[in-house]
Amino acid sequence: MTHAIGQFAAIAATALFILALYWMNDPKTARHAVVAGVSAMSIAILATWIQPEIVHHAWILLAIAAGFLVGVPLSRVPLTAVPQRTALSHAFGGLAAGLVGTAEYYLWLGEPEHFTTFRMGALVVEVILGFLTFTGSLMAAGKLQEVRWIPQRPVTYPGQNVVNLGVLGAAVVLGVLLVLRPTAAWAPTAFPVVIGLALLFGVLLIIPIGGADMPTVISILNSYAGLAAVAMGFVLDNMLLVTAGALDGSSGLILSIIMCRAMNRSFTNVLFGAFGTVKKALVTGEQKEWKQESSEGAAQLLEQARLVVVIPGYGMAVAQAQHKVRELYDQLTKRGIAVKFAIHPVAGRMPGHMNVLLAEADIPYSALVEMDDINPEMPQCDVAVVIGANDVVNPAARYAKDSPIYGMPIIDADKARTVLAIKRSKNPGFAGIDNELYVQDNTWMLFGDAKTVIGDLVKQFAGGGFH
Ligand code: NAP
Repeated sequence: MTHAIGQFAAIAATALFILALYWMNDPKTARHAVVAGVSAMSIAILATWIQPEIVHHAWILLAIAAGFLVGVPLSRVPLTAVPQRTALSHAFGGLAAGLVGTAEYYLWLGEPEHFTTFRMGALVVEVILGFLTFTGSLMAAGKLQEVRWIPQRPVTYPGQNVVNLGVLGAAVVLGVLLVLRPTAAWAPTAFPVVIGLALLFGVLLIIPIGGADMPTVISILNSYAGLAAVAMGFVLDNMLLVTAGALDGSSGLILSIIMCRAMNRSFTNVLFGAFGTVKKALVTGEQKEWKQESSEGAAQLLEQARLVVVIPGYGMAVAQAQHKVRELYDQLTKRGIAVKFAIHPVAGRMPGHMNVLLAEADIPYSALVEMDDINPEMPQCDVAVVIGANDVVNPAARYAKDSPIYGMPIIDADKARTVLAIKRSKNPGFAGIDNELYVQDNTWMLFGDAKTVIGDLVKQFAGGGFH
């Protein structure tokens, strides 16, 4: 009976996982997607729990309680911290897969009939992918969280790729030997060595990668965690794990491909390109000046505009300025000024970051325009308001061949008639490079925290002489 319930639950959970991914495609159905995903996971946990070999082990309740203790605070992190929170989830997923694989191996040593080449192969894949995902994701989360003792910038040294691939190669060779001779006298000792090498490789993999590439790397690690779960499904003979892991693995892969395309980079460039090393823009000719504008002057410029394009970036997320942006949107549209939001696919720190923030502030979805659709309109734009965006509006991406962002499609803010740029300082964006947009003849800086600056602009309209 419980077996039949298990099978039925597996089908129901698989269907719900697929629906969850499908509904995630559209902001209107995204909430259903979350409910479907949570329901699928709950069904999977309950159906596993009631299996005869598990139901008598009351300590499972302790594991579930521990999951809640870690999971609930993790669900409350701010949106800007979601990439590192996601990395932590992958770390736990990888660790779970690695530990289950290890436990199965040592249990099977007592019942060697379990050791088929296929299952042992799956187990080795599970353990290597699981443990490297564990340390790799922890390192990625640490870099994004700017943990003090983990360098944010890429750390490279000569022969690094040889060392890294050597460590992975050694783990794979030992793994293959274990598949061929799982019960040999040396095998139980070799197994922890494979684990150690996988853990080490996870750390080495992330060291040369800069913070700006971390979201892409996290997405790649997501697909590794998914593949580890697929392998675990084969080891445990659990089809739900195989399908859920495959969905997880492929969606992680697709997301990393989307991000790489949006940055015009390849996987190898992300993994081995040491992107994000600080580079100063070449000083050619005279050094241009930064021009500052007051909130009153900026409000005047906005008031005279017919088309205003707001270009939000990571700084809007940091400042949590979206609600003030909504107020500014209301003030401008009330005066008959057309306001559009230009959405770059990798603005912020995760795909859809800007969409989520603007939706939170109830800015109509119809006002959001994708990069490819807004760019042809930019020459007609009277004022481009750049709110904490930097790399995604850096014209160097078009022509500076030595720039780390060369080739990345950008929003053509520089083509607008006037640019108002909001940021706190003259510091570069995440790629660590200067941006000539800010010193362009028609650009005016509004220095300060985005929420405060936009709030001041709103005050000019609400209370000031702008009617
Ligand atoms: P960005 O290049 O990181 O620039 C953010 C800007 O916001 C900085 O100029 C910063 O300047 C400003 N800022 C920070 N806090 C602020 C605050 N409280 N108020 C006002 N301004 C503030 O951001 P972006 O243009 O959005 O570009 C995203 C970057 O992340 C790109 O390099 C992209 O390739 C990378 N990335 C994104 C994703 C993704 O999925 N979204 C994935 C992978 C990589 P100050 O410090 O002077 O204020």
